[in-house]
Amino acid sequence: MKKIQMVDLKGQYEKIKNQVDSSFQEIIENTAFINGPAVHEFQKNLEEYLAVKHVIPCANGTDALQIAMMGLDLKPGDEVITADFTFAATVEVIALLNLTPVLVDVDQDTFNIDVEAIKKAITPKTKAIVPVHLFGQPANMEEIMKIAKEHNLYVIEDNAQAIGADYVYKNGKKQKTGTIGHIGATSFFPSKNLGCYGDGGALFTNDDDLAHKIRGIVNHGMYERYYHDVVGVNSRLDSFQAAVLNAKLPHLDDYNKARRKAAKQYSAAFAEVEDLVTPKIVDDHENSHVFHQYTLRVLNGKRDALAKHLQEKNIPHGIYYPVPLHLQKAYKDERYKEENFKITNQISEEVISLPMHTELEDDEIEFITKTITDFLKA
Ligand SMILES: *Cc1c(COP(=O)(O)O)cnc(C)c1O
Repeated sequence: MKKIQMVDLKGQYEKIKNQVDSSFQEIIENTAFINGPAVHEFQKNLEEYLAVKHVIPCANGTDALQIAMMGLDLKPGDEVITADFTFAATVEVIALLNLTPVLVDVDQDTFNIDVEAIKKAITPKTKAIVPVHLFGQPANMEEIMKIAKEHNLYVIEDNAQAIGADYVYKNGKKQKTGTIGHIGATSFFPSKNLGCYGDGGALFTNDDDLAHKIRGIVNHGMYERYYHDVVGVNSRLDSFQAAVLNAKLPHLDDYNKARRKAAKQYSAAFAEVEDLVTPKIVDDHENSHVFHQYTLRVLNGKRDALAKHLQEKNIPHGIYYPVPLHLQKAYKDERYKEENFKITNQISEEVISLPMHTELEDDEIEFITKTITDFLKA
C-alpha cells in the first residue's frame, strides 16, 4: 500500500499530464499569461457546466466573496448573517468591508447553517445571508431563498467546498449550488473538488447587471480602459490556472463520483461503531453531496485520542474546524450568547475529517476504517 495522503494531487495530475503540460507550453510560447484565451475558454466551459449565465473568474475564493459583497453595494453597518462553523474567509471579508458579521449556529446533522437561527438573527439592518455548502453538501437553499425573499435580503452562496453539487428542491428540480442565490462564490484552491495549481476563484450570477458590475470590480473598477467608475480590486485568474481547470472540468463529475464512492465505503464500515456518527446525506441523489471532506463526529470525548492514534499509524486527518468563529479572537462580539451556539461549540470538539480525494484505493480505505474501528472497540 502506498503512503496514505489527505489529498493526492500528484496521482490526479498523472492522468491529465499530457493536456496540462502541452497547454502550459502553449501559454509560454504565446506569452498569454494574463487574460489569455484559456481564461475565456474556462469561463465559457464553466458557464455551460453550471448552467449559469455568467461566470466571472477571479484570483481566489476569498476575493470572490469580498467582490460579491462589493458588487451588491453592501455598506458599513449592514448586517450579514453567516454560519459560525466554516472556514474563516467567509466572515473575514464581511469584517474587512466594515460590514457587521452576524454568526449563527448550524445544524448538527449536516453542519450547515441552521435556518431557524437565521430567522432569529434577522434585524432591520440585515442585508444578506451567506450560506456555506460545507464539506460538499448543499445548505437548505429552498428555505434560505424563501426567508431572503420575505425580508428582501441578498443571498451569497459560499460554494468553495461544493462545486458540482446539485441542490435538490422538494419538487425534484435540481440546480447546481452557487447558481441559486443572487451570487455564488467559489475557490479553485488546489485541494478543492475542482482545484488549480495555485490560487483561483470565480463568481457566478444569472443577473446581467450584476455580472457587468462585477467584471469591472475585479479589474480596478474599469469598464473602459483607464476610466475608473467604481473602487475595484485587482483579482484575476491567470492563464496557467485556467488551463489546469480546463483540463479538469470535464472530469469533475467523475472526481465527485470517486469522492462519493469513498465516502460510502467509509460510512458502511463505520455503520455499527458506537462512538461514531457518519455524515448524513440529506437527499441521496447522484451529486447531492460531493464530499469535499468526509467528516465524522466522534462521541464521548474520544476525538482527540482517536486523532493521536491516527497520527501514530501515519493516517492523515484534519480537524475542520477546531474553534467556532464566534470564539476566535478576531471575530468575538459581546452580543454573542453562548447558548445560541450549542451545536458549533459541541461539534468543534467532535469532528474529524479523514483522507478524501479522487485517488483513494480500496485497501487504503480498509486500512483506515479498520484502524479506527479497532481503536474505538478496544
Ligand atoms: C477555501 C474556502 C474559501 C476561500 O478560498 P481561497 O481560494 O482559499 O481564498 C472560502 N470559503 C470556504 C468555505 C472555503 O472552504
